[in-house]
Amino acid sequence: MLLEGITYMHEHTTIDLSEVKRNEDCQLDVYEETVKEYKKLYSKGVRNIVDVTNFGMGRNIPFVQRVAEESGINIIHATGFYQEKFYPIQVFRETKEELAERMIREIQEGIKGTDVKAQIIGEIGTSHNAWTEAERKVFEAVVIAHKETNKPITTHTSLGTLGHEQVAFFKENGVDLNRVIIGHVDLTGDADYIIHMLREGAYVEFDTIGKENYMPDQVRADILKQIQELGYIDKVVLSMDITRKSHLEYKGGLGYSYLLDTFIPILERTGITDESIEKLLVRNPITFFAG
Ligand SMILES: [Zn+2]
Repeated sequence: MLLEGITYMHEHTTIDLSEVKRNEDCQLDVYEETVKEYKKLYSKGVRNIVDVTNFGMGRNIPFVQRVAEESGINIIHATGFYQEKFYPIQVFRETKEELAERMIREIQEGIKGTDVKAQIIGEIGTSHNAWTEAERKVFEAVVIAHKETNKPITTHTSLGTLGHEQVAFFKENGVDLNRVIIGHVDLTGDADYIIHMLREGAYVEFDTIGKENYMPDQVRADILKQIQELGYIDKVVLSMDITRKSHLEYKGGLGYSYLLDTFIPILERTGITDESIEKLLVRNPITFFAG
């Protein structure tokens, strides 16, 4: 299902969190500019983008499909529910079995009446240092949907918090951690915290690359160096999690190419080998999806 080439593992081709965030910038829906940047990525070897936008996040399947067609990039769609403050009302009204059924339908039949099927469950999240009752219900529903469909899972942690708890939850519920990515771990800036999850067997995602107001990229690179030395680089994947118009080049943002043009050279200077870089960008996503 992934094409041979580079994969960005956690993006949102179009997303709308503007209502809850009370900020128009969080309605990312600029078709031409996105196509332009995705075409540029294609020219640099990117072949897959995992779009983890799901129920309640302003998912727009025809929009994403058109971007995929025009840019040549294979876009993987997701199913699931994000985190409590962005949940649609259904999450509160329905049982975990009913929520699981919604996800299973999106995986087996298609999303919102289209024939486009979800190939990953996520991004499903916990709040900042808190795992609410509704979020617990979503995670339980995800276990049901995962066991029924065997689709992999990708998570959101708020600023990297509760990553260990998420890992423990999947372990306790009999989910193979080889099928789980814990997201946004780079925001912890804490190598030991991240290495614990790798030792447990989960994948971890450095997916806020370039967001230096949260964490300097050199810190990300230094942690990756430690991970490489400990032999866990096979279980790390990368992305930028672009969610705002102001993240794109036309608004003066870093743009999607930053990861390849700026961050990879930082990794090289930090002592990350070419072999490791090939794994981070190309091999690990393929291995993850292959299960
Ligand atoms: Zn995201």
